[in-house]
Amino acid sequence: MSFASKSPWVIHYDASSCNGCDIEVLAALCPGFDAERFGVINTGNPKHADILLVTGSVNERNIKVVQELYNQMIEPKAVVACGCCACTGGVFHDCYNVIGGVENAVPVDVYAPGCAIRPEAIIDAVVEAVGILEEKAALLKAGKDPTTPMKSHDAQNAVAVPVEEAIMAAAAHDTEVGDAQ
Ligand code: SF4
Repeated sequence: MSFASKSPWVIHYDASSCNGCDIEVLAALCPGFDAERFGVINTGNPKHADILLVTGSVNERNIKVVQELYNQMIEPKAVVACGCCACTGGVFHDCYNVIGGVENAVPVDVYAPGCAIRPEAIIDAVVEAVGILEEKAALLKAGKDPTTPMKSHDAQNAVAVPVEEAIMAAAAHDTEVGDAQ
């Protein structure tokens, strides 16, 4: 596991961000903040990535994409919710098509709030995720399941929030909001 702690590869997915947090992810990776000096490499291939950085909230269109990316990553892996929208849905929480934070799609290991999230916070979150990767690697070595439990649902194994269920939950939420207005 030392290779990943020395050079964690990240993959970034913009769920439905306003692009504010995406710019900060790029800033964290570019020479100004230079996460690469810690060995952090940005990859476009989920099969090569250790850490999934997600910006923006999950909606009916992108939930499958987030889950697909997560499923293609190999254990041990960690997910970082970058910014308030990724953590909770943020300012878009009550939009008609928004389901909520990334935890509605896949298990989240690190919540890194901010609107927009600061590059320093992204680097901190990646460092925290590296520690989680080490713990998961130890679990794997011991023959245990390293999968982080889902927080917003009781599903045990990652993927498992059926899209239809999440969409129905969002529709029920919209109805409640509409009734209250
Ligand atoms: S947290 Fe703020 S900056 Fe980031 S995607 Fe949401 S609205 Fe945009």
